[in-house]
Amino acid sequence: MAAFRALLDLCKRRGFLYQSAEIYGGLRGAYDYGPLGVELKKNILNSWWQRHVYWRDDVVGLDTSILTPHPVLKASGHVDEFTDLLVDCVLTKERFRPDKAPTLEFISSKDTPGGRIPVEAPDKATAKAWQQLIQEQIAPGIQTTLEGKRIMLHVNSFVKPDAKGEGGRIDFVSASMPEQSISLEYNGYVEPNSNSPFLTASRPFNLMFKTFLDPIDPIDRVIQTATSQEQQNKSQGAIREAVDQVLKPSTVYLRPETAQGVFINFEQVTRTMNKRPPFGIAQVGKSFRNEIRLEHGIFRTPEFEQLELEYFIPPWESSHWFKYWRELRFKWWLEHACHKENFRQRDHEKNEMAHYASSCTDVEYKYPWGWGEVEGVAHRGNYDLTQHIKNSNAAFEVVEDEVRVSPSVMEVDECLIPTEKPARYVPHVIESSCGLNRTMLAYLCDAFHQVSEGNNKPPRSILRLHPRLAPVKCAVMPLTGKPEFMPLAESIAKSLRRRGWFTMVEAQKLKIGKRYYRHDEIGTPWCVTVDYQSLEDETVTIRDRDTGNQQRMHWRDIQRFIGDKLMDDEEL
Ligand code: ATP
Repeated sequence: MAAFRALLDLCKRRGFLYQSAEIYGGLRGAYDYGPLGVELKKNILNSWWQRHVYWRDDVVGLDTSILTPHPVLKASGHVDEFTDLLVDCVLTKERFRPDKAPTLEFISSKDTPGGRIPVEAPDKATAKAWQQLIQEQIAPGIQTTLEGKRIMLHVNSFVKPDAKGEGGRIDFVSASMPEQSISLEYNGYVEPNSNSPFLTASRPFNLMFKTFLDPIDPIDRVIQTATSQEQQNKSQGAIREAVDQVLKPSTVYLRPETAQGVFINFEQVTRTMNKRPPFGIAQVGKSFRNEIRLEHGIFRTPEFEQLELEYFIPPWESSHWFKYWRELRFKWWLEHACHKENFRQRDHEKNEMAHYASSCTDVEYKYPWGWGEVEGVAHRGNYDLTQHIKNSNAAFEVVEDEVRVSPSVMEVDECLIPTEKPARYVPHVIESSCGLNRTMLAYLCDAFHQVSEGNNKPPRSILRLHPRLAPVKCAVMPLTGKPEFMPLAESIAKSLRRRGWFTMVEAQKLKIGKRYYRHDEIGTPWCVTVDYQSLEDETVTIRDRDTGNQQRMHWRDIQRFIGDKLMDDEEL
């Protein structure tokens, strides 16, 4: 994790990432992308869009509204089912997701029959206060001892829950009668920061942000309704229902995924672009989730960007296209990676699938804290289109005179081929849903290298980003700060900028080596140096970030040299 902290420091220092609203103390979980962060994000997006839209004739783009009305997300199941389980710790007041929480840390010890559970406080004073809280309110009568910042809970015995998560129990030693126990249910997880087992039962929590599309602030109407309900002595539940009714007409949601915008436009796109399955719609944009726990910088934030592709297919071709997209997407990931072994695909267990999916494979990256999802490739069946047909009478059924099998498809599920003529079917969907911010973090972690400089010097950092992702493609460096080098340096920079490559001219009075190192740190693949010889024969040197090797060439050849390198492996 020390390397990860060094990377975050680099991101802040060199303009990749800033805490949002920092001058006002910051907004938890919100980040602003600095000049280099914007470029990195845009380059990832461009590579994705190029591969999945421009290089194909079966995928088109779309950009739909973030504000989504209630009926769309009610039909899609998000209003009722887009929930995570939420648990509160009654000791630390932390809120967390049980499915991501660790299991109990337990220390066997000679002086207690069962062992001890260490509960970790941030400091000694908090440990003392927590011990008092446990003994007086949370679990009165249990035996505890203080060891610095740790409260040791003495345990007689401890039973792990079964595979269904049931039957787990912790039997604490009673302080007054040590041979007796005070029992607590244990569901197989503890509060992640402290190892506290003192938890509430889990309850579902909807992740969508709600807001109101209404020229008049609805709060006044809410207050009036609640007050009049209270005066009629209505129950809390009845008051809540009355308030919900008041808000319902103006309720809209910030979309929790971009996909629904694609589904509800399915008919419009097929009609206006004259498309028939198999074909896809790509969309890139912001999504919002009121996450229970924000974690690891930009890994989990309430506001994030998604790169989503919904590929519509005849049902009998589903198996083929699911495999096809799983494979193609993973190739894209590996193509930009330094350490391919840190990327993997993981099939979902049946019980972890989203409400709409019938199979799903995640792409995961091995972050410094462990494997984490960066993308899900899901077989959504015809769930979404069918739901919207039922709830809106949309014309999403495809009608074909003849059943066709796409030429490249080898695996056909015959029993899903309609027998009537004309053939009618609701397309199935294979979705690739990738988080742009998580992708950026994964590639930053993958590219971050610290190189020892010896002699007790701190290590220097290199970002070995794939050249196509690197924010700055080239830095042009006049050898000294002398003005006679500047016209050529500016001409080179101009020629590269015209190709759409972010190019910087570095004319500071710093040694050339230092200037190279500053660009290694932000991942610039090539540095061009203008020196005395350049003034004589118009040649310059170009230095490679990863090997340190330099080549001399005419300055007009730099453009082609970089262009060729950027094209190198575009063979997907
Ligand atoms: P997780 O299990 O980590 O919460 P998820 O399974 O809910 O993720 P999906 O609904 O499959 O995620 O969303 C697709 C992609 O969107 C994820 O693979 C991830 O890259 C990205 N994503 C989802 N939630 C967030 C978030 N809160 N912050 C940043 N990226 C996110």
